[in-house]
Amino acid sequence: MRVLVVGAGGREHALCWALKRDTPDATLFAAPGNPGTAQLGTNLAIPATAQDDLVRAVREHKIDFTIVGPEAPIAAGLGDTLRRAGQPVFGPDAAAARIESSKAFAKELMRRAKIPTASSRTFTSLEPALAFITRHAEPLVVKASGLAAGKGVVVCARRTEAARAARAMLADGAFGDAGREIVVEDFLKGEELSVLSLTDGERLLLLPAAQDHKRLREGDTGPNTGGMGAYCPVTIATPGLLERIRREVLEPAIAALAEQRTPFQGVLYAGLMLASDGTLSVLEFNCRFGDPEAQALLPVLPGMTRHLADIAAGSFTPGERTLAPTRAAVATVLAAPGYPDKPELGATIIVPRDLEPGTLVFHAGTTRDADGTLRVHGGRVLTVTGLGDTVSEAAKRSSDACELITFPGKTYRRDIAWRATREERAGAARG
Ligand code: AMP
Repeated sequence: MRVLVVGAGGREHALCWALKRDTPDATLFAAPGNPGTAQLGTNLAIPATAQDDLVRAVREHKIDFTIVGPEAPIAAGLGDTLRRAGQPVFGPDAAAARIESSKAFAKELMRRAKIPTASSRTFTSLEPALAFITRHAEPLVVKASGLAAGKGVVVCARRTEAARAARAMLADGAFGDAGREIVVEDFLKGEELSVLSLTDGERLLLLPAAQDHKRLREGDTGPNTGGMGAYCPVTIATPGLLERIRREVLEPAIAALAEQRTPFQGVLYAGLMLASDGTLSVLEFNCRFGDPEAQALLPVLPGMTRHLADIAAGSFTPGERTLAPTRAAVATVLAAPGYPDKPELGATIIVPRDLEPGTLVFHAGTTRDADGTLRVHGGRVLTVTGLGDTVSEAAKRSSDACELITFPGKTYRRDIAWRATREERAGAARG
């Protein structure tokens, strides 16, 4: 089996790692990849957005199927281009990916399909947006509709703040084209939960729920980032709740996309809020694996990549409704100093060779010099996944390895999975 993974982050390294685990004799290519994917296969120096070059590479290297990791090439139509060229691909067409690339589209789809979500209005000009904000209850949320690398959401305690955010997006071009349309919505309280599913546009296979930590600092404080860590399993995600999420959110979403003749094939990811009274609401949809959710989920789902190949080939027949994790996993992101605003690049990274068994180090923003020196090359540098029989054990393994890996200004959170570890401690105390 010859597989191309498009992308260069920790998610793509984890995908390559999982492909090798499940199919040891697979031949892997990554475009453009990173020093981690280079250890498992061949990196092709082709940007994820160079569609024609990627089609040529797929033909030249006789790739059986391509997995598109990040949202940007999916939204730009790489799935469409490869499928048009007769090449099997795992990942949706651009039209279906609008469920992520346009929050305004997603909101309209949810309204039509009666999928629970915060009440909202969409605006493309400032005056009506400001007028709406003036009448809106506090707190409230302002979102750039387009892709903004997880940074286009502003949770506002006050209307004045919301007005500032709306002005920055609609009048000052703060997020470029992504902010030319905005969604203003009700603030929701509760516990967040991510549920990823694999789908061929018709059938659905749910992965175990994960929780991610978007804020930079411990205690879920500080600015929003692309993600500082993730873990699974999640205590609140009972089989009953997962079944509800399937029926109330994921099935209606794929049905609505199929109905408008843009069937969704790939990972459909629902970011959800569960209120204390049990009310469930969708915060957002993503059209791909999360990063760092993938680095927590893939290691505890042996055999999972078989489904990606089947979906790409059009022969997806999942036996089960939900995949269960074999262990607990905690993925911690090591970020560069200055992340997310201005990450400092170039520092030398040292990864000890003798990390504890049950520890996985996935590369993201790294580069390797000709002499083998590993250097910081992006905001999120590495993801360190710890595995364990409990979330607490996995979290300790991840934290311990994060301590041992060194580079100047290394920034990470020592409290990834704090909800689950707190509950495990309380459970142990109760006996
Ligand atoms: P999104 O990209 O839409 O998932 O938003 C990023 C983060 O902003 C979410 O993970 C939440 O923490 C927060 N958020 C988004 N929408 C809301 C909302 N309506 N109420 C409260 N928090 C929200």
